[in-house]
Amino acid sequence: MGSHSLVAKAYDSLGASANSTPVGITVSSGPTVVASPLQLGVQSGKSGTYEVKLSKQPASNVTVTSARASGNSGLSVTGGASLTFTPQNWNTAQKVTVTAAASGTGSAVFESTAPGHAKSSVTVTQLAATKAYDARFLELYGKITNPANGYFSPEGIPYHSVETLIVEAPDHGHETTSEAYSYLLWLQAMYGKVTGDWAKFNGAWELMEKYMIPTHADQPTNSFYNASKPATYAPELDTPGEYPAKLDTGVSVGPDPIAAELKSAYGTDDVYGMHWLQDVDNVYGYGNSPGKCEAGPSDTGPSYINTFQRGAQESVWETVPQPTCDAFKYGGKNGYLDLFTGDASYAKQWKFTNAPDADARAVQAAYWADIWAKEQGKGSAVSATVGKAAKMGDYLRYSMFDKYFKKIGNCVGPSTCPAGTGKDASMYLMSWYYAWGGATDTSAGWSWRIGSSHAHGGYQNPLAAYALSNYAPLKPKSATGAADWAKSLDRQLEFYRWLQSDEGAIAGGATNSWAGRYATPPAGKSTFYGMYYDEKPVYHDPPSNQWFGFQAWSVERVAELYQQTGNAKAKAVLDKWVDWALSKTTFNPDGTYRIPSTLQWSGQPDTWNASSPGANSGLHVTVADYTNDVGVAASFAKTLTYYADRSGDTEAAAAAKKLLDGMWANHQDDLGIAVPENRADYNRFDDPVSIPSGWTGTMPNGDAINSSSTFDSIRSFYEDDPAWSKIESYLAGGAVPSFTYHRFWAQADIALAMGSYAELLE
Ligand code: CA
Repeated sequence: MGSHSLVAKAYDSLGASANSTPVGITVSSGPTVVASPLQLGVQSGKSGTYEVKLSKQPASNVTVTSARASGNSGLSVTGGASLTFTPQNWNTAQKVTVTAAASGTGSAVFESTAPGHAKSSVTVTQLAATKAYDARFLELYGKITNPANGYFSPEGIPYHSVETLIVEAPDHGHETTSEAYSYLLWLQAMYGKVTGDWAKFNGAWELMEKYMIPTHADQPTNSFYNASKPATYAPELDTPGEYPAKLDTGVSVGPDPIAAELKSAYGTDDVYGMHWLQDVDNVYGYGNSPGKCEAGPSDTGPSYINTFQRGAQESVWETVPQPTCDAFKYGGKNGYLDLFTGDASYAKQWKFTNAPDADARAVQAAYWADIWAKEQGKGSAVSATVGKAAKMGDYLRYSMFDKYFKKIGNCVGPSTCPAGTGKDASMYLMSWYYAWGGATDTSAGWSWRIGSSHAHGGYQNPLAAYALSNYAPLKPKSATGAADWAKSLDRQLEFYRWLQSDEGAIAGGATNSWAGRYATPPAGKSTFYGMYYDEKPVYHDPPSNQWFGFQAWSVERVAELYQQTGNAKAKAVLDKWVDWALSKTTFNPDGTYRIPSTLQWSGQPDTWNASSPGANSGLHVTVADYTNDVGVAASFAKTLTYYADRSGDTEAAAAAKKLLDGMWANHQDDLGIAVPENRADYNRFDDPVSIPSGWTGTMPNGDAINSSSTFDSIRSFYEDDPAWSKIESYLAGGAVPSFTYHRFWAQADIALAMGSYAELLE
C-alpha cells in the first residue's frame, strides 16, 4: 500500500480565473468587432480609452458604433462613437473615449457594434477621482482576462504561464498549480473590491472546486481510512538514483487526531483540499480529468498529474511525470509506482498532494473578499464561498503534522523516535505538503494520509492562521480547528523570529525528520521546539533558501497580519526585514529598479527560547545577485504597502510607489508587464533521468522510459513547441536563451499590488 508523496516546487509557480470570467481563446467564424481591453477603469472627472478594430478585412467601409448599453449612466462615450474602417485600415485600432462624471461609482457595459459583425462588449468602472492605481489594476486585469491573450484554458482555468515552454516548478507552461487557482481567487477578490461585482470571486471558487479539489470519484476509498494507522513508513533518500524507497511496516506511526472530527463536522470521508499540479491541456496524455482514471490522450479535460517524488536532490529536470490515478495503463508493469516505492506487490491506486501555501492563500483571498464585500454592504454575496474557505482551512491542518504522525521534537531514529499520541505530532507550522491516497478498487479496503516533517519559512501564512482562528466567518466547524489555528498563529510568528538573520532576511526552516528519514542530524544543530534547523528544507537542487521571492511572498503575509491587527511580534520582524530589503534595493534615475534575486546563507540561528529569543548573531545572509523580476517586485511592493499603512514608514511607502511606477513605465507589453530573463538552466533539457536498471515503460505518447531517458526524451512534445529551436541551439553550444514570460501568478500579483496601493496609500 504505502504512503509517500514528495512535492518539491522550484523557484516559483503561479495563477488566476473564474466561471464567469475568461474562457479560452475565442475563435469566431464570422467577422467580429474586436475591442481591447475588455475592462477599463475611469477616475471621476477623467476620461479613458479602449480600442476597436475588425477581425477580418471587409469588402467595403464598415462603421463601428460605440455606446453605453447598460449600467452606470455617469459614464458615456465622448469620442470615437462612430468610427469608419476601410478595406485598407480595418486592422488598425482606433480609440473610443469614455468619460466619467465628476462624482459617482459603478460599472457600465459599452458595446461596439457594426452591421454584419458580432459586437464586442467592454466593462467600464467609474473610480474615485484619486484612485489612479485602481485604474491600473483594471487595465492589467483587462489584459489578464482577455481571452485573446492566452492566460486561460477553454474551461477558464489559469495556466501557469501564457508561454508553453517553461520549466521551473511546473515542467510545462500549460500546466497549472493550486497556486495559480489561489492567485485567481485573490485577483477576483480585488476585482470585487474595485467594481462591487462578486460573481467572479464566487465563480473562481467554483472553478477551483470543480477542477482542483478531487471529487469523490477521484478519492473513492477514503471510507477505509484507518486513523489509528495513517500510513506505512518509507524513508526519503538523498538522490533519485537510490529510489524506489522500501516500505517498512516495522516503523511506528502515530494516530491521526483530526480525521474523526473532520468527518463529524462535514459528514464525509473525503478530503477538501487542492491537489497541487494539473496538466490543463492533457499534454502528457494521462487523461486524469476529474472523475476519470487514465482516460488517455484523447481525453479533453484538465488532467491531474504529479512530478517530484524522489528526495531533495531531484530537481525538476530529474523528475518522472506520473498520473495521480495509476491504473497501470502507462509506465511499466506496475504503472509508475515501483519507481518511487519498493513493495512486494502493487495495487492500482490514486494519490494527491496538497501544497499548503496555496490553500492558505485561498483562505487569505476569502478573508479579504469577506472584509471588502462587507464594506460595500454585500457580505451575503460571498458568505457561502467564505464558508467553504473555512472548510478548506480545517483540512489544511494536515500540513501541520509530522509525515508519519510521530512526536514533534528530538525525533531521531525511525524505530526510536516515538509515534505521537495525537496533537503532540503537530508542529503547528505549515509544512511542505500533506498527501492522501488509496486503492482504486472500491472493495480493496485501504487508504492513507500523511503530513510532512519539513517546514519552510516561505510557506507560512500568519494572516490565514489569524483568519481561521480569530475571524468568525472563517472559523472552521470542527471541534478543535479554530484552536489549532490560534496556536499556529503564535507558533508561526515565533518561527519567523527564530529564522530572522542578523541582517533581517528569513532563513530556510526546520525539520522533524532529518534527511526525511529521522536520521541523526549533525552535532550542534540549533532547534525550534526540538525540530532541527534546516538551512534548505525539502529541496537542494536548487537550494530552497535562495529565492528572494519566498521572502517577499511570506513576509507580505506578515505585513497583512500587522496591518489588520497591529500585532507587535509581526511588527518587530517587519521592522528589521524591511530595513534589510530596502538596503538591498536600488532605484535608477530612469525609473527602473533592482531587487535581490539569489540569497546565500551561512551559520544558524540560536536555539529557540520563547521567553528570551536570541539575537541570531551567527546567522547570516548575503545577496549573490539581483533582478528586475516583476512578479517578485510586486510582492515586495505589496509587503511595503501593508507595512507602511500601519507603521507610517514613509520610506517604505515611497519604495512601494517607485517599484510599481517603475514596472508600469518601463515593462509593459501587450499581455501585461514582463521582463526578459536568461535561462542558463535550460542546458538541463538533456539531463539524464534516473531510472533503475532493467526498468522499462512507456509514456502515454509512446516515449520510452528506461535507463537512457532524459528530461527531453520522456517529453518529446517539447520538440514541437514554437520555442524549441532556442533550446536546440543552446544545447548545441549556442547562446543562453532569453524568454519573456507571462506567469499568471506574477501578473495577478502586480495587479493586486496596484489595487492594494490604491486602497491603502493613494
Ligand atoms: Ca539533482
